[in-house]
Amino acid sequence: MSNSKGECRFCNKTFSGRGIGKHLLLCRSKKEKDEMLNGRKNEGYIYHLKISAWSLYWLHIEMKGTATLLDLDDFLRGIWLECCGHLSQFTIHGVRYSSYEEQDDWWGDAPKSMNISLNDVLDFKDKFNHEYDFGTTTELSLQVVSVRKGVINEKIRMLARNNPPVFVCEKCNGIATQMCQACREDYCDECIEEHECGEDYVMPIVNSPRTGVCGYFGPFEE
Ligand SMILES: [Zn+2]
Ligand SMILES: [Zn+2]
Ligand SMILES: [Zn+2]
Ligand SMILES: [Zn+2]
Repeated sequence: MSNSKGECRFCNKTFSGRGIGKHLLLCRSKKEKDEMLNGRKNEGYIYHLKISAWSLYWLHIEMKGTATLLDLDDFLRGIWLECCGHLSQFTIHGVRYSSYEEQDDWWGDAPKSMNISLNDVLDFKDKFNHEYDFGTTTELSLQVVSVRKGVINEKIRMLARNNPPVFVCEKCNGIATQMCQACREDYCDECIEEHECGEDYVMPIVNSPRTGVCGYFGPFEE
């Protein structure tokens, strides 16, 4: 389970978590699409970001340089994280950018606002992280894979995503769909019914690093 695979959204070929980043920089179908968009007005910097948790979950996205960390936080919450409105923050070059505004700056180390554009805080090859929820934290690693000039229509465009990882039922070795939050074991739909901890602890297995954590039941919309 070290390296989950995923599909390039442009040519539909499958790559390993390691290979996909390099592929996206070379993919001919993507290049053709990009060239159709480029050359228009409003060219700006576009950031290719890799976002990952362990090597199991990963996303490659492109984002407008004028979009903000707040937009990125929204996106991450939507696709992977949001359960009950916990706080979150990015740490970039040792500086924290928080989802909440802090008034008091006594010690001079209060986090900054996420309402700041990528152009202002990120450079090519930067590595940074994102934490959601300071109780049962989900931590994501982010990396600027490339920065190019061009045009994309939306603030954030998905380039590739890992396929849902397959977990095995603890009891019958079938494909697990549910997890018991109490004992952290995975079960199929049938075996979970007989599991002794009871249904209060049952969580669905979803394609997210927050699977089975706090009240995470998957994204509100796919
Ligand atoms: Zn491709
Ligand atoms: Zn929660
Ligand atoms: Zn089973
Ligand atoms: Zn259990």
